[in-house]
Amino acid sequence: MAEAPIIIDSKNSDADNIVKPFQVEGENIEADVRGRATRLGTVLEQILSAHDYPEIVAQTLGEVLVLTATLGSMLKFEGTLTIQAKADGIIKMLVADYKSSGDNTAGELRGYADVDYEKLKASGDNPDMETLLGDGYLAMTMDQGADMERYQGIVELTGKNLSDCAIEYFANSEQTPTALRLKADKDPVTGNWRGGGIMVQHLPKGETGTTRNLSDDTSEQWARASAFLQSVKDEELLDPSLDIDALLYRLFHEDGVRVFDAVNLKRGCRCSQEKLASVLAKFTNDDLQDMADDGKIEMTCEFCNKAYHFEV
Ligand SMILES: [Zn+2]
Repeated sequence: MAEAPIIIDSKNSDADNIVKPFQVEGENIEADVRGRATRLGTVLEQILSAHDYPEIVAQTLGEVLVLTATLGSMLKFEGTLTIQAKADGIIKMLVADYKSSGDNTAGELRGYADVDYEKLKASGDNPDMETLLGDGYLAMTMDQGADMERYQGIVELTGKNLSDCAIEYFANSEQTPTALRLKADKDPVTGNWRGGGIMVQHLPKGETGTTRNLSDDTSEQWARASAFLQSVKDEELLDPSLDIDALLYRLFHEDGVRVFDAVNLKRGCRCSQEKLASVLAKFTNDDLQDMADDGKIEMTCEFCNKAYHFEV
């Protein structure tokens, strides 16, 4: 068999802070096995190091940020994708969001977590998913501006890990077979947070009524691609010396893989003095006086931890 090609249409060579869409090629030219690969370096370190979260919480938030970047990069218009987990475990709440530039070339990420420190203390060193998140739900909200529909999908957590929740979401809401790997961890050399993820989907060719038409001639290719994805080691998802193109080639070289232009990621927050002032404006004067210390109120943005000061 001739060696299958890797075709890199990408102009971007930065190895970190990117999402790269790709398509598994194979004999079927109109392949419907597609995916996205995400790498977070400094962006993840910037977001997580702004907080002092316990490591297991930072890691979970990091993996949700990888998922958020992966899915957010699919936004075709200017808009936001928000992933929010509300739970009753060590993590009470977790939010990550992605703001798209609108031209499919760039996105901004931010996120935070709300931790139950009592539960953390009681849980020991290595809490399982049930203890970490417990019961609750994961909601994904896509908002693409005034004239586009706002869309929300929800899956229950019930002890599952977050990538299983996302896979279930795609199976139920979108009826799209999806395989997903997510990982965030500290780099063993630098100690900085890194994140990586790959999602592969079997996209329908066409639809008749409510039945999705997943073509038979590519279902074998899909089975192979999702099995290859399971073979990826966590370290490979994060390894700074193995760029996304090389990793995708390692995985899908049997069929060949076409890699498209990267979406560039940066850390971004949308907080401002004005936004927080409008939050304060909802309180009565008495409440504001109660909140104030020496006539001053300090408010901190939950996402980026930036402090804002007001006089009342
Ligand atoms: Zn902020």
